[in-house]
Amino acid sequence: MSVYTGEVFEMARTQFNRIADQLNMPVDERDRIFYPKRALTVSCPIHRDDGSTMVYQGYRVQHHLTLGPTKGGTRFSNNLEIGEVAALAIWMSWKCALAGLPYGGAKGGVCVDPPAVSQRELEAISRRYMQEMIPFVGPHTDIMAPDMGTNEQVMAWFMDTYSMHVGHTVSEIVTGKPVASGGTLGRREATGRSIVYLAEQALEKLEINPRHATVIVQGFGNVGGYATQIFHEHGAKVVGVSDHTAAYYNADGLDVPALVAYGRKHGVLKGFSTELTINREKLLTQPCDVLVPAAIERVITEKNAGSLRCRVLAEGANGPTTPEADTILDQNKDIFVIPDILCNSGGVIVSYFEWVQDLQQFFWGETEVNDRLAQVMGKAFAQVTARAKAENVSMRTAAMAIGVEKVQLAKRTRGLFP
Ligand code: GLU
Repeated sequence: MSVYTGEVFEMARTQFNRIADQLNMPVDERDRIFYPKRALTVSCPIHRDDGSTMVYQGYRVQHHLTLGPTKGGTRFSNNLEIGEVAALAIWMSWKCALAGLPYGGAKGGVCVDPPAVSQRELEAISRRYMQEMIPFVGPHTDIMAPDMGTNEQVMAWFMDTYSMHVGHTVSEIVTGKPVASGGTLGRREATGRSIVYLAEQALEKLEINPRHATVIVQGFGNVGGYATQIFHEHGAKVVGVSDHTAAYYNADGLDVPALVAYGRKHGVLKGFSTELTINREKLLTQPCDVLVPAAIERVITEKNAGSLRCRVLAEGANGPTTPEADTILDQNKDIFVIPDILCNSGGVIVSYFEWVQDLQQFFWGETEVNDRLAQVMGKAFAQVTARAKAENVSMRTAAMAIGVEKVQLAKRTRGLFP
């Protein structure tokens, strides 16, 4: 029996088993590499604005500590379960290893719907969560970052809470902070930027001019929103976007600056237009050169994988494609998949840069951050495409094999203690 249950955790397990088979990994090593090292569940009581007391459940899962501290985001979402958090932590491990970062994966979060609480309540939840996490995290143990439902402000509250506890500023305890509180230039846009960078490389491989490419983005938060803007700035035509409230499609191209301004003002896309509205599910199967699922897990399934009409599937979200959908996509040589652990790794790569700058108290310019990001992403992309070609496997298999192998090798060389 395991405490980790649910379809997202099972998905991480199926993906891992496929890779373990591919690598002929001895059975004895499998559980040691797959199962999280440790997990913590906490109750976070706060006073609500109406004077009542409410308790929010929080989690943090640290997957492995073999290569350094663990690293990963903190998610605020209504239906969060520990199995999902564990799966996300496991994916962070493969992602960090693939990019060559000295981290294991972690993920955490609180079961709360941020729009349903006031700003004061959100601050109380954030601070109480970090307070409960203090024995479990640290700048050399586990470093948090934003994820769905959290942002720079939440990271600043985390950092402040931890720092007040130890009695001095510890900016390296979290990444994705505001630049004013020890954050790095370029972190906010990093995930969106990395998606565009790799999608453009994939398009060039397919001999499609990125400036003439059409793009559909699912999700308009920090990841999808910036990806949309950067695609637009680079001259691509964004024909579809959606968030959890609405979806819009226009074959002639959407007005991206107007969408961005609307999203900033209203917080959601609902109400932007009536003529351009399309069913959210249908948006995913409209023709385009690049499809970017940048919202939640398990949106490309066996039901729609066969109907996708994109040339490049650039996975901005974590775990957007189920293993059943992967089996279908593996047969379709017309779709170039940039798997999540490669495609969205720009976020954690620039988080790593932020941590390094905070540790050294020596800060870089934005150009330096972006150039180094391109360097790390370019290398990872080249390694994955080369391995996929050499072994005649999918891009996901190649990416995961590189990540899992690095963790396996580190565990083998360190040995089993005691
Ligand atoms: N939450 C992001 C991810 O899933 C970023 C993690 C980080 O920056 O540590 O990759």
